[in-house]
Order: sequence, then C-alpha cells, then structure tokens
Amino acid sequence: MTSSDSPTPEEIPTCSAKGCRDAAVWVLAWNNPTLHTPERRKTWLACEEHREHLSQFLGVRGFLKDVVKLEEWVQPEGSERRR
Ligand SMILES: [Zn+2]
Repeated sequence: MTSSDSPTPEEIPTCSAKGCRDAAVWVLAWNNPTLHTPERRKTWLACEEHREHLSQFLGVRGFLKDVVKLEEWVQPEGSERRR
C-alpha cells in the first residue's frame, strides 16, 4: 500500500493529514522535547482544511512551534528531508 522513499515524479507537497491528498498550503513546525533537541524541527504539511486539526493535535501536546505559509517556509539547513 505504501511505498516508502519512492521518488515522486512531481514535487507537489501534499497535506500530512491521514488520507488527505490536497496540496499543502501550510507548514507546521514542531518539536518533541523528549525526542528532539530544542533546535530540531519536524515539519508537517497541511492544506487549508487540516491546518487547524493538525496544529491542535500538536498544540495540546505542547509540540507546536510555528505555523508558516508553505511559500514562506525556509527549510532549516541540515534538518529533515522534504518529502
Ligand atoms: Zn488536508
């Protein structure tokens, strides 16, 4: 069902919400202090519809650091590969 690490022909970032294939509009930057160093950023991508849902999910756990428009997001060097 899932093929891991297979390169996609087109680099269209899609929403990280389960089952959602909409184009991502937002980047949610988060950090789990029990797993990550403080400067580390994990990112989730979200469409308009799922931004609130995903940021709430991270927010209640205290993980959410930043919500940035995808077009304004600058991937910090040396962090996660983009999907
Ligand atoms: Zn979505």
